[in-house]
Amino acid sequence: MYMLKVCHCCDAIIGELEEHALDEAHRDMEIRGNVAYGLCSRCMKDMKNEHMYFQ
Ligand SMILES: [Zn+2]
Repeated sequence: MYMLKVCHCCDAIIGELEEHALDEAHRDMEIRGNVAYGLCSRCMKDMKNEHMYFQ
């Protein structure tokens, strides 16, 4: 079974995730149905930049 990886920030489709890879991805992903929400590299970068501004 494949799960779809979607960016919860900008809704971009990041890719597909194999079920056996879930445990590893689970830490920074939110699973809903067969969609795994995470951050795409662009939003990840934006978020890191924001953190730098706030700290
Ligand atoms: Zn994104």
